[in-house]
Amino acid sequence: MRLMEIEEGKARILVPDPKEYEKNGKFDPSWAPVFYNPKMIFNRDISVIAVSAISPKYIIDALSASGIRGIRYYLESNSTIDEIIFNDKSKISVDLISKNVERNGVKVAKVTNRDANSLLYEVIADYVDIDPFGSPSPFILSSINAVKNGGYVAYTATDLAPLEGSAKKSCKRKYDVNNSKLSFSKEVGIRVLISKIVREAAILEKAVEPLLAFYNDYYYRVILKVNRGAKRADESLEKLGYFYECDKCGFSGSSKDLIEKCPRCGSKLKISGPVWLGKTNDSEFINKMISSLQKFSYVKNFEAISILLNKISQEIKYPPGYYNLEFISSKYKINVPSREKEIECLGEASPTHFSPKGIKTSKNFDDVLECIKALSNKV
Ligand code: SAM
Repeated sequence: MRLMEIEEGKARILVPDPKEYEKNGKFDPSWAPVFYNPKMIFNRDISVIAVSAISPKYIIDALSASGIRGIRYYLESNSTIDEIIFNDKSKISVDLISKNVERNGVKVAKVTNRDANSLLYEVIADYVDIDPFGSPSPFILSSINAVKNGGYVAYTATDLAPLEGSAKKSCKRKYDVNNSKLSFSKEVGIRVLISKIVREAAILEKAVEPLLAFYNDYYYRVILKVNRGAKRADESLEKLGYFYECDKCGFSGSSKDLIEKCPRCGSKLKISGPVWLGKTNDSEFINKMISSLQKFSYVKNFEAISILLNKISQEIKYPPGYYNLEFISSKYKINVPSREKEIECLGEASPTHFSPKGIKTSKNFDDVLECIKALSNKV
């Protein structure tokens, strides 16, 4: 394997030289023997900031590949870390991780060549990171098992087709959720993922509390706090429910109980659930990240992260789901208003990071529709 050095954050690591694995002038990171994806730098940049806000002592980077994630946590998170387990089932990855941790002076590294699931039933940590190919589902139970009471878990999910309701059977298999393609499925997807995490945690009599959850590019990332307690687990299960949308009149919303007919026009509803209807982001945690941001002004995605965190902090206070202005306007064959004008008309509303056409609001569907109609008359 021909290697080349790359720089990411404060780390300098060796990765497979893409030129050796190109096919017809194209390269996909999964074609190389060790996985390193520059498109995930945003995910790692923001995770470094989150880990810094958490300050864990024991970290498990369970699916480590090149080691870049754990190495960056060590070099950049401002935490006093006592141990980081870097694990990968691929021998060739583990050999490269060993080289990379040494080059970066990660003195607290323990490198293991194990199946992540069996490892996670033998070790314990206060922050476990699961960054897989596709769905994190196969690793949810074991990762929650490995977390101390009051510790944290982080998941990346790149399987947006099942999560957003395009691949329904796959969603049922991987997340045990009956999903539909809705006009606000970008947000539904992250709540399907959290719903699965909540239900897996409950098996172990643990409850999870989302601190940071966002969509970017082609993936979701969520970081959650884990607390022990059967009662707490029961309370978190109480926050599961359903999203629905009417294809006829455009009405949408969420409810704890399953409803089948549109309360507005009586048509059959499209349903997704069980989904998480609790908060997806924690104000205190997001504010802590925002207030530490200046220390991370060197990261590649500093500006974009600052924009995302500020958008999230505006979104937090609104109920689950968002209104897709394009979808609603199309139902009434009227012009799509500008998002800014619609927000101004509604008063209590904000943009959402999930979609450039989406707004979050505590106002009801008819208020949203009235504003769209009023603005459409002015066009
Ligand atoms: N976290 C890395 C990063 O930020 O660059 C990328 C990880 S890559 C998407 C997934 C890695 O998981 C691969 O290196 C693969 O070998 C490893 N893997 C897949 N299944 C595994 C399993 N059951 N146990 C341990 N490692 C596994």
